[in-house]
Amino acid sequence: MKIAFPHMGNAYIPLRGLVEHMGVEAVVPERPNRFTLEKGARYAPEFVCLPFKITLGDCMNALEKGADTMAMVCGMWACRFGYYASVQHMILRDMGYEFDSLLIGREDLRSVLDKVRGAVDRGVFRKLAGAAAMFRAKATAVEELEALARRIRPREEATGSTDAIMGSYLEKLDQADSMRRVWQLRKEQREAITSLPLRESNGLLRVRIVGELYVLLEPSLNFDLVKRLGTQFGVEAQPVLSTYRWLLSPLWLDPLLHISSSRARRMSRTYLPYVLGGEEHMTITGTLDSHTDGFDGVIHAYPLTCMPENICRTILPSISTAHDIPLLNLCFDEHTSTVGTVTRLEAFIDMLRSRREHNGCRESRPRQEGKPLRDEKDPACQPKRSLSELRRL
Ligand code: SF4
Repeated sequence: MKIAFPHMGNAYIPLRGLVEHMGVEAVVPERPNRFTLEKGARYAPEFVCLPFKITLGDCMNALEKGADTMAMVCGMWACRFGYYASVQHMILRDMGYEFDSLLIGREDLRSVLDKVRGAVDRGVFRKLAGAAAMFRAKATAVEELEALARRIRPREEATGSTDAIMGSYLEKLDQADSMRRVWQLRKEQREAITSLPLRESNGLLRVRIVGELYVLLEPSLNFDLVKRLGTQFGVEAQPVLSTYRWLLSPLWLDPLLHISSSRARRMSRTYLPYVLGGEEHMTITGTLDSHTDGFDGVIHAYPLTCMPENICRTILPSISTAHDIPLLNLCFDEHTSTVGTVTRLEAFIDMLRSRREHNGCRESRPRQEGKPLRDEKDPACQPKRSLSELRRL
């Protein structure tokens, strides 16, 4: 058995660890890029959402690299994710590819285990326990590395130094074959990143990114949004979702994820009393919380025909006005260009900078009826420059 699974950010590292620890060969194709998207878009239905197209191209790459089993997690039926695996595998078979399907979450668990048992020989349950531990250890290490990089990148003195460290440790984590090695790498990566020389970061802008999971986590689709904001614009960008959350939530390996998810569902109920099948509760709650969490603005990133996020798109402007938090909507499809996205980001960041300068301090409370936005008596809130001075700049 040679198992392949579609890419999503750095999820391939814990997933490869899981599969290989079971004694099965994992086929990991090259990281998706614009060609992968074009390839998938050629065979996918025109109005299907963007992640479907790029993951279809990714599956084609994996099958061309020798995979004979395609594994895919299946969502609930509410949004298109529930149909991804079945429709993609049908398209791939129509194209002439021959392979077995492992539809996790759709097929009976016993039939999935039976298929894996055939490839693993003996001791499938013992191996499964070790593989789950390795999966969790690698997912935690990747999460820690990504979180550190997001904080350090906009503050680093030598541009690109964080990403150089990150690239080398991701590679080492992918190759690590024991828990001891993963723990050792975690310690080393923490020391390497935190010892980087930093520059003065007073007044650093912080932006929260909300939206559809795949667009948020896959750099080839969002034009490396988090990294670009950090290195090119010197802005700390924090997505509400992470690979770790996506991987560990369905397996109940981290109860904290469920606590935060239930809170998000509860808080978003006023705006959206239904479950739409995506990450809509995280989008709404992430925007609601962003002001009190000290963010200067929110970026909403979503694919063109995404049903849950297009519904959120109509809700977020009212939250943005009520909580006085600037909002930028970035809609992605296969025709979206880097230049268009960067121009919009540039304008948004400029606006956040002048707003910060004008306000003199970050407002950290929601706007209240009849109350001015700035407390004129609070010396911390006095503008550093007058409006006319700013206009002259
Ligand atoms: S959340 Fe949106 S983009 Fe993702 S599968 Fe569902 S409809 Fe498609």
